[in-house]
Amino acid sequence: MKATLVRTEKLNEQVYSFWFEPERRFRYIAGQFIEITLPHDNADDRGTRRWFTLSSSPTEELLAITTRFSHQGSSFKRTLHELQLNDVVEISEPMGDFVLPKDTSSPLFFVAGGMGITPYRSMAKWLADTKESRNVQMIYSLKEAADEVFREVFAAAGIEPTLFITGHEAHAQHLRAHDILNAIQDDQTILYISGPEPMVENLEKQLKTAGFPANRLVLDFFPGYQPI
Ligand SMILES: Cc1cc2nc3c(=O)[nH]c(=O)nc-3n(C[C@H](O)[C@H](O)[C@H](O)COP(=O)(O)OP(=O)(O)OC[C@H]3O[C@@H](n4cnc5c(N)ncnc54)[C@H](O)[C@@H]3O)c2cc1C
Repeated sequence: MKATLVRTEKLNEQVYSFWFEPERRFRYIAGQFIEITLPHDNADDRGTRRWFTLSSSPTEELLAITTRFSHQGSSFKRTLHELQLNDVVEISEPMGDFVLPKDTSSPLFFVAGGMGITPYRSMAKWLADTKESRNVQMIYSLKEAADEVFREVFAAAGIEPTLFITGHEAHAQHLRAHDILNAIQDDQTILYISGPEPMVENLEKQLKTAGFPANRLVLDFFPGYQPI
């Protein structure tokens, strides 16, 4: 399906949201992702397609994706950054099961690493707009506090993320399973983790070793980003 860029939004120095109008009605569930195709000349070996979570909520008219741009970015990201209003991109159908559980009484714990915040923005906006009340705790892991995005969306849904600041590269202190387990208030909690692939894999391993039940663990990982 085609979608037209109608708005870009700068969230901080490196992070932008892109708002698209789909050519026809687009049904999805908060937390799902799409594939975007951006044909461009001299594409690098990573090609012209990427997956992005829809950071928008199904209650919003437009579709949004949110991403970070690095200095040594891919040709895909450069092309995305240079898109002009009214440019048209190709998007796939929505995919994925990183979505809220049907049972609205289940206590939830959201763990986000960096850009892994995007599905939670969609869910929080959905909860606020539909006035659906859920018991949600949240840890948001970031290299520095200035990287935080979407605070107002979470506040409107009654969610207060606890920031976990890792610092940079050599001195980084990564989030560990025990930081999460110590914070969980209800032993029936469903734990959601979304972030760079190495972070999600490490936490999954640690949680399994600690005996956290796999059937209460929901994972979403983003390849192509460094651990947070
Ligand atoms: C289900 C799913 C959902 C996702 N949702 C999101 C989302 O909501 N937001 C989001 O931002 N991403 C999301 N992603 C990840 C996204 O698809 C990209 O992989 C990611 O944004 C990195 O983009 P990029 O490869 O263009 O690299 P860039 O962002 O441009 O760069 C990332 C890193 O890769 C390095 N790099 C760049 N080009 C190359 C190259 N040719 N070879 C080796 N290294 C290189 C850069 O130096 C940088 O360190 C999702 C992925 C999946 C699977």
